[in-house]
Amino acid sequence: MIQYVCIKCPLSCKLKVKKQKDKIVVLGNNCAKGEIFAKQEFLAPKRTVTSLVKIINGDKPVLPVKTSAPIPKEEVDKALKIISRIKIQAPVKIGDIIYKNICEDVDLVATANTKISKIARD
Ligand code: SF4
Repeated sequence: MIQYVCIKCPLSCKLKVKKQKDKIVVLGNNCAKGEIFAKQEFLAPKRTVTSLVKIINGDKPVLPVKTSAPIPKEEVDKALKIISRIKIQAPVKIGDIIYKNICEDVDLVATANTKISKIARD
């Protein structure tokens, strides 16, 4: 039996997952979201990656970014290595694709706006 804490709402239910013959049994969940979360964690855990990329000529030194969808947990380190090498030119708008297909068909997108810095404009 494997235990998880459900992260789908602030109740943080303690979930227990076990395999019984061909079925995956989830205990401790207070709703269906917890069951779906536990089965996903058990079979193929995924995470949304959030980080920062360097920005050139921006009014801020870095830009917050995230993956457009959760990616397999074992791909997170590879995605973070790619992110650490990215330098993007200002301006950037929320939702702009910063890196296409960072993992399978998931993109890396901006989660903030960045203008060109006053110094770079002058
Ligand atoms: S199982 Fe349902 S109620 Fe419990 S933490 Fe997860 S989402 Fe919230």
